[in-house]
Amino acid sequence: MSQLQRTTTEKKFPIAAIIGLVLIFVVGLFVVGFDQGHIFSIVTGETAFEELFIHELTHDMRHAAGFPCH
Ligand SMILES: [Zn+2]
Repeated sequence: MSQLQRTTTEKKFPIAAIIGLVLIFVVGLFVVGFDQGHIFSIVTGETAFEELFIHELTHDMRHAAGFPCH
């Protein structure tokens, strides 16, 4: 009697890696598409909303990705 060989492999993805990638995606999406000084306002306060550093940094990428901003 011969043993049956498995022809399929069981795919296992570490749940921590999936959670990490989802977090990176969500934070990246927010930085590129929606940040209007919110992230730097944690450190610099109200001036971050006037300087819009991340907004200006990602401005061309934001338009290329189809996010409206002005
Ligand atoms: Zn713009």
